Amino acid sequence: MINSWNIGSVRGIKLRIHWTFLPLLLWIFASAVSSGTTPTQAISSILSVVAIFGCILLHELGHAFAAQQFGIGTRDITLLPIGGVAALERIPRDPLQELWIASAGPLVNVAIAMIIFAIQIIGGLGNSAANNFLSSLMVVNVALVLFNLVPAFPMDGGRILRSLLAFRIRYERATAIAARTGQLCAVGFGILGLSSGNLLMLPLALFVYVAAGAENRMVQSQHAANASRTDAEPLQSNSRGFRWAGENEFRNDGGVPASLSIQSVAAWLTNQRRDHCKIVESGRVIGEVTRSQLASAIYRGLGGGPVSLLLAA
Ligand SMILES: [Zn+2]
Repeated sequence: MINSWNIGSVRGIKLRIHWTFLPLLLWIFASAVSSGTTPTQAISSILSVVAIFGCILLHELGHAFAAQQFGIGTRDITLLPIGGVAALERIPRDPLQELWIASAGPLVNVAIAMIIFAIQIIGGLGNSAANNFLSSLMVVNVALVLFNLVPAFPMDGGRILRSLLAFRIRYERATAIAARTGQLCAVGFGILGLSSGNLLMLPLALFVYVAAGAENRMVQSQHAANASRTDAEPLQSNSRGFRWAGENEFRNDGGVPASLSIQSVAAWLTNQRRDHCKIVESGRVIGEVTRSQLASAIYRGLGGGPVSLLLAA
């Protein structure tokens, strides 16, 4: 990805920083200087931003390490001005696993706040600059915990909400409720951002709104695809891969015939844990479709149509 830079890796997880960070740091520096502070103070405010994002990075590593316990890898962790994103290879369906992975991030910030508190008590730093710095870092970590516990699915609080619901009700229903709650929170973020002039809230609100809707559609369409598979034509496994009863065979190189239904291809991709595939007609690759394209087509009620429909659009 060209829009973020590699800054290292931990336990095989790539750490990246989004390019929008650079203007953010410049803006903080410029606004500090223009408000009459010395360059030294401006640099120290940049250092505190770096420390804050260090805490966000540790938060994301908390998620990633918790996921590793269940054999789920993390492709990378990207730091954005609105926070961090750990790209897990998959989201577990087991509510207990999702609960633990979602809670691990905020728990890291609880631990950091407690360690800072202990240092302040034992260190006896008094009213020094170091102590003020630690105090503000502790406040930031407490704020990170509270902010992440807002049930704004797919943020941590929303995932915790979905997992708690999924202990009692169907996963699809739990997701729908969590996504709707998340979108309500996103609208709240938007209003709060506009009324307080905190413009960084706006991209966050937009992200939560769109991502909650997308993940909900994904879960609902996977459910629909799985249901149609078990109701109608069962997948039969053979030594050469998967066969769709009554329809052409899926090719081993991941190509699927253009005449297959959107639902069938979605079910096959889910089954294969793939996120895209080639579409083949008369032995020729005529295009490619992604799982999210299939999911949104199913959501729009086009699941029964041929997958080639998506290429025409
Ligand atoms: Zn988190």
